[in-house]
Amino acid sequence: MRPFAYVRAADADEAVRAATGPGAKFLGGGTNLVDLMREGIERPDTVVDVTGLPFDTVEELPGGGLRVGALVRNSALAADARVRTRYPMVSQALLSGASAQLRNMATVGGNLLQRTRCPYFYDHASACNKREPGAGCDALGGFDRSTAILGVSEHCIAAHPSDLCVALAALDAIVEVRGQDGTRRVPMADFHLLPGDTPDIETALAPGELVTAVELPPAPAAANSRYRKVRDRASYAFALVSVAAALEVRDGAITDVRLALGGVAPKPWRATEAERLLLGGPADEGAFRRAAEAELASATTREGNAFKARLAVATITATLRELGGTAR
Ligand code: SF4
Repeated sequence: MRPFAYVRAADADEAVRAATGPGAKFLGGGTNLVDLMREGIERPDTVVDVTGLPFDTVEELPGGGLRVGALVRNSALAADARVRTRYPMVSQALLSGASAQLRNMATVGGNLLQRTRCPYFYDHASACNKREPGAGCDALGGFDRSTAILGVSEHCIAAHPSDLCVALAALDAIVEVRGQDGTRRVPMADFHLLPGDTPDIETALAPGELVTAVELPPAPAAANSRYRKVRDRASYAFALVSVAAALEVRDGAITDVRLALGGVAPKPWRATEAERLLLGGPADEGAFRRAAEAELASATTREGNAFKARLAVATITATLRELGGTAR
């Protein structure tokens, strides 16, 4: 075990002050950080324990949204009656992830910051630009069917692992963060970064910034939403492809649609092209499939993961078909 300093923060300001150094990490549920420390991938000088901070409630926002504290446990958020009714895809995404024991520990803030499960990232014998900038990427010439097909770069093709974040991306959630200069709000679309030539930089957080809450804006269409996850086994597995979708149909025409993909990109992938094609058009299978194919048209596939493009088209189409049948 590598030695590190441990600070149990009494309030958010103390937590931010304690985490100003480049080697500091916040500890919430610890379900990813502790694993990474055991593997020697995360090597913090200081661990700032934030589990005593008062960020563990779900509150109503004016206009019908919800403010979810960063320390709300995944299991608690999945069971919240307001979430189940107004944002069912959020509840379904949470319940599709990890195991019951892990969901009882894992926090919403930590979910946003979990790191890729690319096997080369965990293998110290492999080159990995995310673990060691400039080292190379053994996944590029390797075989791994979990890799991404959208938004990749020549430096990293790892997929983002979160289920919850896919639903948050579809909902235009807002991430509230606290830093040395106070609080700021980051749109979910800007929170996670594509790898480009710096795959080790994964979020828009500045050093020492702490996620304090996630806001779910009011979204009437989200009452008719679904999270569908395709994976190698029925539980305790990461997505090969996942879809978070919400659909509102009036008089046969689509009046609102939210669509995001997981398992296919280095960040939760908002399917903006598919949404653009669908909005205002008919809610029928042909339209769903054409929109899905347009979204996947820019996919960069390789031998091991080419199936993901076809799987994504089929999963988007099936999810929208299911929602179309229950839309008003
Ligand atoms: Fe590392 Fe990314 Fe390459 Fe995986 S895909 S080995 S995480 S650089």
